[in-house]
Amino acid sequence: MLSRLKMLRSSHPQLVRAQFITSSIKSASKLICRRQVVTMPPVIHQREYKYTEGKVYHGFQCERVEHISEFELTSYTLRHEGTGTELWHIDRNDANNVFSINFRTTPFDSTGLPHILEHLSLCGSKKFPVRDPFFKMLNRSVATFMNAMTGPDYTIYPFSTMNEMDFRNLQQIYLDAVFRPNLAYLDFLQEGWRLEHKDINDQNSPLVIKGVVYNEMKGAFSENAQIFGQSLLNNVFPDHTYGHVSGGNPLEIPKLTHPDLVDFHKKYYHPSNSRIYSYGLFDTNKTLALLDKEYLSKQNWIDNSYSRIPQQERWIQPRNVHISSRLDNMGATIDRQNQIAIALLMCDATNIQESFDLQVLSEVLIRGPNSAFYKNLIEPNFSGGYNQGTGYSSDTKDTAFVVGLQDLKVEDFTKFIELFDKTISKAIGDGFQSEHLESVLHNLELSLKHQSPNFGITLLLNSTALWNHEGDVVSNLRVSDMISRLRASLSQNNNYFQDKMEQYFVNNNHRLTLTMSPDELYEENFRKAEKELLRQKVKNLAKENLNQIYENGLILDAFQKAKPNNDVLPCLTLKDVIESLKWPKVFYQNIKNVQTQICKASTNDVTYCKCLFNITDLTQEETMLVPLFCNVISAMGTTKYNYRQFDELVLSKTGGIDFSVNLIEDVNDGKSYRLSVLMSTHALEKNVSSMFHLCQELLNNFMLNDLDRLKMLIENYISNISVGVASSGHLYAILGATSLVSDAGKLKDLLSGVGHINFMKNYVRITNPLEMRDKLTSIGRKVFNKSNMRGAINSTQSYMPLAIKHYENFLETLPDLKKTKTCSYIQFFDPSCQQYSMNIPVNYCAKAFFAAPYLHKDHPTLRVLAKVVSAKYLLPVVREQNGAYGAGARISSDGIFSFYSYRDPHSSKTLDAFDKTYKWLRSDKSVIDQQSLFEAKLGVLQQLDSTIAPGNIGIDNLLYELSQECFEDYRSRMLSVTINDFQDCIEKYFRNPSKYYGKCILGPVNNKLEFETGQKWKINN
Ligand SMILES: [Zn+2]
Repeated sequence: MLSRLKMLRSSHPQLVRAQFITSSIKSASKLICRRQVVTMPPVIHQREYKYTEGKVYHGFQCERVEHISEFELTSYTLRHEGTGTELWHIDRNDANNVFSINFRTTPFDSTGLPHILEHLSLCGSKKFPVRDPFFKMLNRSVATFMNAMTGPDYTIYPFSTMNEMDFRNLQQIYLDAVFRPNLAYLDFLQEGWRLEHKDINDQNSPLVIKGVVYNEMKGAFSENAQIFGQSLLNNVFPDHTYGHVSGGNPLEIPKLTHPDLVDFHKKYYHPSNSRIYSYGLFDTNKTLALLDKEYLSKQNWIDNSYSRIPQQERWIQPRNVHISSRLDNMGATIDRQNQIAIALLMCDATNIQESFDLQVLSEVLIRGPNSAFYKNLIEPNFSGGYNQGTGYSSDTKDTAFVVGLQDLKVEDFTKFIELFDKTISKAIGDGFQSEHLESVLHNLELSLKHQSPNFGITLLLNSTALWNHEGDVVSNLRVSDMISRLRASLSQNNNYFQDKMEQYFVNNNHRLTLTMSPDELYEENFRKAEKELLRQKVKNLAKENLNQIYENGLILDAFQKAKPNNDVLPCLTLKDVIESLKWPKVFYQNIKNVQTQICKASTNDVTYCKCLFNITDLTQEETMLVPLFCNVISAMGTTKYNYRQFDELVLSKTGGIDFSVNLIEDVNDGKSYRLSVLMSTHALEKNVSSMFHLCQELLNNFMLNDLDRLKMLIENYISNISVGVASSGHLYAILGATSLVSDAGKLKDLLSGVGHINFMKNYVRITNPLEMRDKLTSIGRKVFNKSNMRGAINSTQSYMPLAIKHYENFLETLPDLKKTKTCSYIQFFDPSCQQYSMNIPVNYCAKAFFAAPYLHKDHPTLRVLAKVVSAKYLLPVVREQNGAYGAGARISSDGIFSFYSYRDPHSSKTLDAFDKTYKWLRSDKSVIDQQSLFEAKLGVLQQLDSTIAPGNIGIDNLLYELSQECFEDYRSRMLSVTINDFQDCIEKYFRNPSKYYGKCILGPVNNKLEFETGQKWKINN
């Protein structure tokens, strides 16, 4: 996440819980772990190890100790003597500590058993018999990460925090949750599935299927990319656990019984089948002692080979599978809404060097305009570009290589297959260009140095699959060694990669060709199947079963509405969190008349540069094209270098040159906004001069002349922006609601919301490429100049003077233009409502209104209030009672307060709940007491104190023109919000409907919407 303020806009608040990872075949981009440090590690001359190999500590024998210098960490592998549980501790000077418990969970049906168990484990345990302690703890902790996830063969429970008290609290709750959960029947009904009357109070109303996971999975499969990814996994590995949907197929979920779930827990959540991970600075002895005393010493060792995953048996001939998908009314035209992919089984994931080599080979074959597949599959431009599954995946027991295209015609399927085979044989014949290979390796090495926040979590997530298959996760961290070994193989054998391709691409019959086409009846067929399933379930119910269902509905409802007793849960106190984190200071310097931020930080020999160009003066039409401009500008080459040469140079000298558009409202009064283009890049110190040279070349000499390429990039762009609407529907709904509040909100939607998708599709239809080229060129000429720019450099103390020198030279070359206007004034609109009708079975609802901007005295209070409303009102009502997967409220820096729901079976009912917030706030004095106020503040602190990568320190100063002092001040004002402040804000902002508000729904057509809401709706089809 780029900015702490930005988090308000784009994070997934309240959706943290219980993620389901659909497919493990995903892009090759997550190659290795990245690092993050808050303080620079001290120089250790003589290394002292905490544990010694062979010795026993609190029942754990230390088996292996290794120092890994490239990440400045020490790895300790310990094994519990009684249960055989492995504990992997990473000792590293990083304040953001991590703990996780992992289980190997291998389902043999698609009822979603491991996924529902993951939800249920977090619904109360022996020591913490509280309904849903996980959600309750979200508000009693300052965790920087807190989640649980179900993958195709594992379930993991990770969290991270910088506060030791918090670490111990969460550790206790997580351990008790997984080893001693209550797994209560009522929770099974709530989280898994249940039959219930539509109106729970009326036994004559029809029975329906409800349940959190049931709805979550219906929502997950609303996204065609998910359907494709899941099917690819199931069909490439059909023989064992990967042949099933670990998250649950909605039509199979109702086959799961509560006793099955309890049995599965006994077998798969046994300590002998678990792996425990800890990371950071906190005392590991305390962790070992707790584990041994409370949990592990009470159990015996069992042989966990039952959960081991065998290698997939190789096929003797290739296979073809065709599936159908939902017709996506936000996607391409129906004749092009098809996808195809070829997947090849590669090596055993535990063969780490082989897997690493194949990963690099895949990058060389797929990535960027110099790669063989890009040249042969993408450049002929008969599709919308690579699909989401493309890349090398090492998340399964056998790794896989996938190349696929989205948005192509059925008649081009054959062409794809021919081109795929041709590409392989041509690559084997021609070999690889060493410059291209070098640029891929450089990028890999740079990514080792580049630091992102949450290093410990990233390391865990990148190691989980390999660890799960008993692979050597420690050696897998020695990335530099693996690079050297690969280099050696390449120099010993000129045909090294070609030989690999013969082996894995040519002489490999384990090859799946998967195709997918839309079916207009998909949704209707699903509804029919769901109805039939319901009919079967209800058909044989005896009178007493029916009575039981009715009773259960009432009991569950009462249970959900009962006031929870949270007193047994630990909670931080104000003194635990009063100190804010110290970040390196940002200084300002005028360099060549450009205001520039200088931040000396521990960037690990990487220099970061950001340039922010004000573009508020562009015409309306030009502004609308800026997102596209940002996407294509660095991909077209310059007058000196064609796009292939330029891409190779960028890849071999920098971490990329990226552009994004930003619309930022005035944080003081919210009455005006600025538009800007942000350019970001970074490079190793030795390459900083080249980095600036490339930036200068691009900004001054960009070339958009190649119309065929431009056309192709635009088509791929449109295909890509249409992917993911259903999976982040709440963000699009919030944008859609905000667009009804003011013209700034509307512009935001046109730059990044559904409005943008619709605009772009239409624009391309009515504009010829020549005209587009001229418009984009004219944007570039207006945007790139130093008169309307601010800059930021983050570098190490020692390198900074040189970095500034190069930056100066770069600025020297940028043109001076006249100063343009810096902001536009915001117009507010009268209230209105709109729906984007989508062909999906769930809704995303949002309501937004203008409250108070970031620096207004009420903003911190409203932010705390949003947390209270989310945790105490929306989650119980919209999630637990009404069955939506998520719901919440938030206020962003622009002053817009919004409510939203996620994967929601209802729409008008949810909007009604949003409207009744004032009534709830006033219903009972006890809804806001000191404890709930404090918990809500902790929730806000989680965002304010989130970790930030060294390269991004100062981003809020740059984008929002907010000083670090302002930020500190905001933090302390937030911590001192009182109940009286709360009461004032409730009256001021919630008593009467705001003058400026909007409502938006993304979801299926609902003819009764106006009747149900009593409001006029604009329907966008
Ligand atoms: Zn879930």
